[in-house]
Amino acid sequence: MPADDGAFTLEVDRTACAGHGMCYGTRPELIDCDDEGYPVIPDPNIGPDTIDPARDAVAVCPERALELVPRSTATPLHRQ
Ligand code: SF4
Repeated sequence: MPADDGAFTLEVDRTACAGHGMCYGTRPELIDCDDEGYPVIPDPNIGPDTIDPARDAVAVCPERALELVPRSTATPLHRQ
């Protein structure tokens, strides 16, 4: 699916994340947290049904640690 069809991957920059939880506090249906309070994204594949909550999560992150990456440029999950 081309990026202009609204397919994105929601990614967390773990080096920038401060773990204070505004993202999963705002959009718990999209983002969970681990035992240390860092975000876990069970399904990072974002499409038309989840783009609005994903944008909300990106917008509330004060560290700019969340990013919506167009699927066509996302790092393949199983690169050899
Ligand atoms: S709001 Fe940003 S900095 Fe805070 S836990 Fe979520 S991704 Fe990390």
